[in-house]
Amino acid sequence: MYFNSLFLILGARYIILFAVILLVLIYARIKSFKIKIHFLDNNFYKGHIKFYDLNGIIHFHSTYSDGSGKIENLIKIAKKLKADFLISSDHNTLKPKYDGLEGHYGNLFYFAGEEINTEFGHFLALGIKDEIKRGDYKDVLLNIKKQNGLGIICHPHNWWTPWKNFSVSGFNGIEIINLDSQWRGMNPLYILLVLITYKINSFYSLHFLAHKPKKTLEFWDSVQKHNRLITGIASIDAHSNVKISKNKRVKFPKYEELFSIARTHLMLDKKFSGNIEKDKSLIIKAIKKGSCYFSFDLFGKPSGFYFEAETIGQNNRNEYFASGDTINLKKLKNEIQYINFYSGININHKKTNYEIILYKNGKQLYRVKNSALEFKIKISYNNTNIKPVKLTDKLNTEIKNKNDDNYGIETIKDFINNNKPESSNFYRIEINIIKGYKKITYLYSNNIEIFSE
Ligand SMILES: [Zn+2]
Ligand SMILES: [Zn+2]
Repeated sequence: MYFNSLFLILGARYIILFAVILLVLIYARIKSFKIKIHFLDNNFYKGHIKFYDLNGIIHFHSTYSDGSGKIENLIKIAKKLKADFLISSDHNTLKPKYDGLEGHYGNLFYFAGEEINTEFGHFLALGIKDEIKRGDYKDVLLNIKKQNGLGIICHPHNWWTPWKNFSVSGFNGIEIINLDSQWRGMNPLYILLVLITYKINSFYSLHFLAHKPKKTLEFWDSVQKHNRLITGIASIDAHSNVKISKNKRVKFPKYEELFSIARTHLMLDKKFSGNIEKDKSLIIKAIKKGSCYFSFDLFGKPSGFYFEAETIGQNNRNEYFASGDTINLKKLKNEIQYINFYSGININHKKTNYEIILYKNGKQLYRVKNSALEFKIKISYNNTNIKPVKLTDKLNTEIKNKNDDNYGIETIKDFINNNKPESSNFYRIEINIIKGYKKITYLYSNNIEIFSE
């Protein structure tokens, strides 16, 4: 009896000691947690098509609707965070524009969009001059088009206001990343983890928002059609205004935190001019076309990213295409020998492990680890004696030993048949960073279309 209780007391002490040590270790681990992508010191661009990379914060709510921040203050925050452009989207109002807030604030360009309620869900209208009232999707869309604006489906798969009709047409883009959905849509256990760890290390807490929205990506890949490229963007949807009881709201997560997590990067052939309307249409055109990519910049601002296709003809005549471009094979005719895909980024692979994945119509086609991507489709004119099509899907770490096995080969007849307008093919890139057991999709490109007509 005596020994038993002594054992119990000693045992309980050890358990408590063990628990305390464990808690201290977990606390220290969370406190010091950081994922930072290491980029090369000498940043160079290896792509063929030069562009200006302007990054922006799209979709947030201010005191004009249900956000807690004043636009004037949010402009200051975005400026401090080195964004090039900032677009608000208060619910069913364009009042910030009427109040004369649009304009250039040093290097930051701000303008107002609108998030409009339709019977199918929330719809983002950018580049419109006149306010559009909430209403039927068809009427809202028509009004946006009349005003030369663009329409984007908001947070299609969040659980409280999901998009309700996935067979609609006419929209220009989809919010692939919507940070509000990213955190509220997480597994409740993760939400709890986010809330508990937020005070210890907000970076640790917020890095959970960088997860892959699988359903939305599937939707995005399924709606691409010939001459109707649907653009993917990352949007913030910041409110910083969480209701916790009838009279109490908390400013969580903070605007400056959300503004730092994800950005949409435009690939422009010129910089902003300083003229409000001209710069607005520059942004609208780039998003409409798909000349943009989006990334989780909290891990590091992307440097030197490119994604291109090159068509090589018989006399080494080649042309280059970037995301948002459409390649018409018929224009290149029998001359075509290869189509090469290139992608790269200035990540220092000695310090940060990463992989680049090429997708075709939403399916993985090829991937490389810690290296620039080069994928070649050889077009064969000999229809009888040809190797089977071999499109490698395995992780290729030995990119140096390139041989035909790394390449896809198709006959010209098959290639053209497989790329008819009704069966256009769409190619895009994703970049993952790998940290221990964690794999985070850091960057998403938009699509390049290939077809034959
Ligand atoms: Zn919404
Ligand atoms: Zn919103």
